[in-house]
Amino acid sequence: MKIGPAWWGAVARRAVGGGGFPPADHFNPPGAVRRYVGAAREGVVLRYAAFDALPLGISRAANATDTQRQVRAGQQHGGRLKGSPVPRTRGLTAMNMHIHSENMVQTIGALEQYIQRPIPDAKVIRHLAKKHPMRITHYYLDLIDWDDPKDPIRKIAIPSLGEQKRSGTFDTSGEHVHTKFRGFQHKYRQTALILTTNRCAVYCRHCFRKRLVGLVDNEVVVDWDEVVAYLGAHREVTNVLLSGGDPLILATDHLEDILGRLARIPHLRYVRIGSRIPVVLPDRILDDDPLHEAFKAFASGGKQLYVTTQFNHPRELTTTSIRSVKRLQEDGVIVNNQTVLLKGVNDCPSVMAELQAALARAGVIPYYVFQCRPVTTVMDEFQVPLHDACQLIDEARKQLDGLSKRFRFVMSHLTGKIEILGWSDGGIYAKYHQTNRPSLHNKLFHKRLGKDVGWLDLGG
Ligand code: SF4
Repeated sequence: MKIGPAWWGAVARRAVGGGGFPPADHFNPPGAVRRYVGAAREGVVLRYAAFDALPLGISRAANATDTQRQVRAGQQHGGRLKGSPVPRTRGLTAMNMHIHSENMVQTIGALEQYIQRPIPDAKVIRHLAKKHPMRITHYYLDLIDWDDPKDPIRKIAIPSLGEQKRSGTFDTSGEHVHTKFRGFQHKYRQTALILTTNRCAVYCRHCFRKRLVGLVDNEVVVDWDEVVAYLGAHREVTNVLLSGGDPLILATDHLEDILGRLARIPHLRYVRIGSRIPVVLPDRILDDDPLHEAFKAFASGGKQLYVTTQFNHPRELTTTSIRSVKRLQEDGVIVNNQTVLLKGVNDCPSVMAELQAALARAGVIPYYVFQCRPVTTVMDEFQVPLHDACQLIDEARKQLDGLSKRFRFVMSHLTGKIEILGWSDGGIYAKYHQTNRPSLHNKLFHKRLGKDVGWLDLGG
């Protein structure tokens, strides 16, 4: 079937004309991803059921209408991924409606329009957002106090001039070295990590995968048969971390399929989903009954499902985000949190303490606080020196009860995951928490450092 204006026009008329969505099979034309027509505006406006299906590098500046760009998107990313039984034929859910461009801001112009005020240095910011895309949900934008130029949520979401500094690297923990095949990493013996998408609801400016989020998809898994075969042959792998990008931006039937495949691997004990969706788009969780059916089905198979969130500031713990966490917990999901220590966001002991206490109060396990990695465009803008970081963590812990200070302060280093125990004798005391090098297992060490150093030079 040729997808032309007449086809889409007909679908649009059906949708707008009160007939609801077209039948499911209309969402699966050859060469197109699932989509639906929400309204007719200058022809057809397409909304995507799942943003993971959007093409890479669509330039808003490109000389094309939204319709043309998005039709092209569907044609480029159509079809089924190898080994993926995801047919993308199920009807759309309320959840999917949250994940479309009308609920997100992706250009500086749209941002200025949404907040009804100009963005300072808009020309440079626009240029930076072309290098590392900007995407922010309306929900998350509404948490920002625009009268405060140092608002912490603004710093997480809006590109800033600091991104012009280019120190650091784009792969700070050796992800390429540990990639076994496209989208699949095996660094630590018991844990496999899968890059399920390069898309997120919000592109955090501090992201350590800036090399790929919103940009290229050449590190995203394509062959799920290969994943299952590898896991089946590696009985030492007891758990899988679904990462990205944000896996919860995937269409629900895609997630359901992934979980179904993993559920059938007998030696896996649990699966983790790393996601900021509860933080930046909680309605995606609250409004999607099929998602909860999928999670409950996975739990009923005897394996544990975890969602690892990333709350970085107490203001992110809104009533709605906490409701989304509770909803996950009702499904039998254990929710834990990994905060990233970020300059200008949470580098204050009372803010860090308030955050960890609020997480514990919400029933979220404070799992890790991560030292910000020396990522290009991130390091200078967000990294706190280790000396200051250790003092800050110590001060925050003083303000916390036992459950609230369960977190470990760690860094994901090339050599492994290192727990930073504290600063003394002119440097840090640290201990290997995870590593694939036998000589480093549980190794306790001291490293003398300058007070302005933010990362450990331990060799590769
Ligand atoms: S949601 Fe996660 S993967 Fe996506 S940009 Fe933020 S930190 Fe990076």
